[in-house]
Amino acid sequence: MAFIAEKSRNMPASAIREMFAISEGISDLVSFAIGEPDFSPPPHILDAMIASIQRGETRYTPNVGIQPLRQAVSESYRARGLEYAPEEIIIGAGAISLLNIAATAILDLGDEVIIPDPGWANYKGLILQLGGVPVEVPVREEHNFTYTPEDLRAAITSRTKAILLNSPSNPTGSVASRAELEQIVEIVKEFDLYVIADEIYRELIYTEEAYTSIASLPDMKERCILVDGFSKTYAMTGLRLGYAAAPEPVIAVMRKLLENVLSSVNESVQWAGVAALQGSQKAVLQMKQQYKYRRDLAVSSLNAMPNVSCRTPSGAFYIFLNIKEMGLGSQEFALRLLKEERVVVVPGIGFGKSGEGYVRLSYATSDTLIREGMRRISKFLEHL
Ligand code: PLP
Repeated sequence: MAFIAEKSRNMPASAIREMFAISEGISDLVSFAIGEPDFSPPPHILDAMIASIQRGETRYTPNVGIQPLRQAVSESYRARGLEYAPEEIIIGAGAISLLNIAATAILDLGDEVIIPDPGWANYKGLILQLGGVPVEVPVREEHNFTYTPEDLRAAITSRTKAILLNSPSNPTGSVASRAELEQIVEIVKEFDLYVIADEIYRELIYTEEAYTSIASLPDMKERCILVDGFSKTYAMTGLRLGYAAAPEPVIAVMRKLLENVLSSVNESVQWAGVAALQGSQKAVLQMKQQYKYRRDLAVSSLNAMPNVSCRTPSGAFYIFLNIKEMGLGSQEFALRLLKEERVVVVPGIGFGKSGEGYVRLSYATSDTLIREGMRRISKFLEHL
């Protein structure tokens, strides 16, 4: 193993994948583990992809993606009040590829990036993989699972390069309010930092309040790299399509880096993206209504159970269930729930040490399975 780099050898494994591996082969499971829509992409999106294949579009495209898609992304930003020209947009294979490329663009070896704890585990992995230093800053339930200025200030050093922001959040479902973003912006400006904003769940918000992108706040566009994609909004996880928006000089660097990683993204999938953005959004609204119904179903069931509680998450499709009163570690809770009731949840510790005392449930699954899962969790809690 000597030829394997130390940073790669010590890469943490994904808690979600681990739960999958453990649950493999167990029948009659109810899984709340996977953060993936259980819907299919709307047919007009798939038709556009098929038409592209039939036109024989099987070659490389420009590194930054095809112009019609960059144009469509630019227009979708404009519709939300954000001005990004097509030259300020780059297309990648899912948001994850662009998070990597964005971080590569701004980090030198040893540079620090503030990431949320609990937060999506991939942030830590990808920063370590680049030779950067992830600095986990707690986001607490009593503060809407969002960074507080005090915690941010305490974490900033001379090596801090960027703050990673994920709103709506995986795993907590919290959405940072405008006032909370303004507090973060003040610190970003004071310490001259960048923000990598992972906005992949921004369409999945269940409150009346419109989504505020941190890039829309005064003088923030030049400090932000926005990362977004089609996986969650359009149920296109396996098609691997995402985009990033940033000022043109940053995109120019990301273009060079993307050449070394992906060269370009499958053209037919890019046409699927054009159809997704320009076509009817009716299916997106319907999926959203379903998620909201499921969220309410699961939250009200869980909050009626003994010794556990959860906030009503405003976005994404996750519930971060507080199990602190149970006196069980999150891993033990998840393993026993799996063994005793065949229900899969993800231990909160898998999202960072502040995730201990919680488990994550994804409600991107059918109402029937949610009802059955709730019945089983309730039985499990009563017997403990
Ligand atoms: N960002 C967050 C917070 C996620 O939860 C996920 C997927 O689970 C991604 C990014 C990855 O998205 P994509 O499929 O576009 O790579």
